[in-house]
Amino acid sequence: MTTITIDSHQHVELIEITTQVRAAIRSSGISVGLAVVYTPHTTAAITINENADPDVARDMVVTLSKLVPFDDHYRHAEGNSAAHVKSTLVGASETLIIHDGAPVLGTWQGLYFCEFDGPRRRQVHIKVIGA
Ligand code: ZN
Repeated sequence: MTTITIDSHQHVELIEITTQVRAAIRSSGISVGLAVVYTPHTTAAITINENADPDVARDMVVTLSKLVPFDDHYRHAEGNSAAHVKSTLVGASETLIIHDGAPVLGTWQGLYFCEFDGPRRRQVHIKVIGA
C-alpha cells in the first residue's frame, strides 16, 4: 500500500491526485490488475471527473454546497454535518482498472481528492492488486 499526504487549503475544494496515483501504480510493479484509491476520513471523498476544464471541479464544489447547505439545523455538535453528508454522497474510494502498468482512464478523466472540511492534512491510500 502507498499512502500520499495532501494539505488542503480551502474549506471545500477538489484537489487532483492523478499524477500521484499513476506514480503509486507504477512503483507497485503490477502491470495488470486493480487499484483501490481510498481516503480514511469522514469529511472527505474520492471521485473521478473531468480534469481538462478547472471550472468543472469548481462547479462541483458549488453544486454540492447547494445540495448540502453548510447550515441546515443539523444535530451533530461538531458543526460539520454538511461535510459528513458530502463525504457519503461522493464516497470514500474509487476502483481503477490497471492495464500496461497504468490506470485505464478516459481522455478527460482525472482523480480528485475532495475536501469538505478543510483546510487540513489528509491521507489517501492506494492499494494495487495484480490479476
Ligand atoms: Zn463531525
